Amino acid sequence: MTEPTNALPFLPFALPEIGEDEINEVVDTLRSGWVTTGPKAKRFETDFAAFLNEPQLECIAVNSATAGLHLALEALGIGPGDEVITTTHTFTATAEVVRYLGADVVLVDIDPKTLNIDPKLVEAAITPRTRCIMPVHYAGLAVDMIAILDIARRHGLRVVEDAAHALPTTLEKELIGTMGSDATVFSFYANKTMTTGEGGMLVTRNAELVKRARVMRLHGMNRDAFDRFTAKVPSWYYEIVAPGFKYNMTDIAAALGIHQLKRITAFQARREQIAQAYNEAFADLPLILPPQPIEGDVHSWHLYVLRLSETLEMERDVFIERMFAAGIGCSVHYIPLHQHPYWRERYDLRAAQFPHSQKAYERSFSIPLYTAMTDDDVQRVIRAVREIALS
Ligand SMILES: *Cc1c(COP(=O)(O)O)cnc(C)c1O
Repeated sequence: MTEPTNALPFLPFALPEIGEDEINEVVDTLRSGWVTTGPKAKRFETDFAAFLNEPQLECIAVNSATAGLHLALEALGIGPGDEVITTTHTFTATAEVVRYLGADVVLVDIDPKTLNIDPKLVEAAITPRTRCIMPVHYAGLAVDMIAILDIARRHGLRVVEDAAHALPTTLEKELIGTMGSDATVFSFYANKTMTTGEGGMLVTRNAELVKRARVMRLHGMNRDAFDRFTAKVPSWYYEIVAPGFKYNMTDIAAALGIHQLKRITAFQARREQIAQAYNEAFADLPLILPPQPIEGDVHSWHLYVLRLSETLEMERDVFIERMFAAGIGCSVHYIPLHQHPYWRERYDLRAAQFPHSQKAYERSFSIPLYTAMTDDDVQRVIRAVREIALS
């Protein structure tokens, strides 16, 4: 009944890479007496703005990307009667924030070549009620923002980018976040390309949006806690100007973010190296490789998504089960929103309306790709995928 002694330990689907600098900064925060939003959250915002290297941009640290998306839409005045267009091929967070505000979600299908929202379908879905487009840079591959921003300009629509996967992704050599949308939101959830445990960053060049989001991030107070406790006079005074939210990022989280951000370029290089190794190792298999970035552009490689080709009769679920049997964690990105009871019933959706997302869902799975993987881990994943695909 004992495990064979040469059995390798289970390789999880995702793991964060936390270094000594991150740990020391967190300890320093704990010893400092200031654990919630304060100097480190401020520094993380400044560092993030410096990384994006675009003077007009303001960065607002929040406790999740979901919070950042909610704040952005709220600040843009999205509300009851409005429609927001996004992709069905995403995590529910993208769409749920629209419902928080009483507005309606209009889901459209993906382009099977990129697995990103199809700009042609976005344009076709516009009605007199449409107010905003929310593209998602799926897996870390840039959406065609040129097309999305052009549609938005022609129809007078807002654009809020869900960039939860897209640090540091580029399009035509420009970092996502700097392309000219109304707002871009990054996620620092545990499995993203950098992490603060939980956290997000709202990035915008819209001064009105900055003002509103900073107030709504902390209860609708007209000054944040750092100002409140360190400003000279009067330190105790604040005004509540709206029923705001509790979305501020703690200094404990920001302590992680400051050092994770310093490593983001190196993290991306390692992710790309692993993706290249996978691309080469799987090229001859009955698998569809993930969509690749345009020559010269950066893919963050948050996810490595494989699709079983038509010639492979095996079911996707069986492939994943066999990967688990080989001791390797896999996942599926995503169960499309139109498949979930809430979204399906709320908008009376059918899979036939989203053929490309539905097919991608039924035939795809994501394999481990993260910086904490060793070269041996990578080879082990390659061996397992090859063995199963060729069996
Ligand atoms: C992770 C994720 C989110 C939410 O990020 P949180 O920081 O966990 O709120 C939103 N959209 C997409 C596409 C994601 O993958």
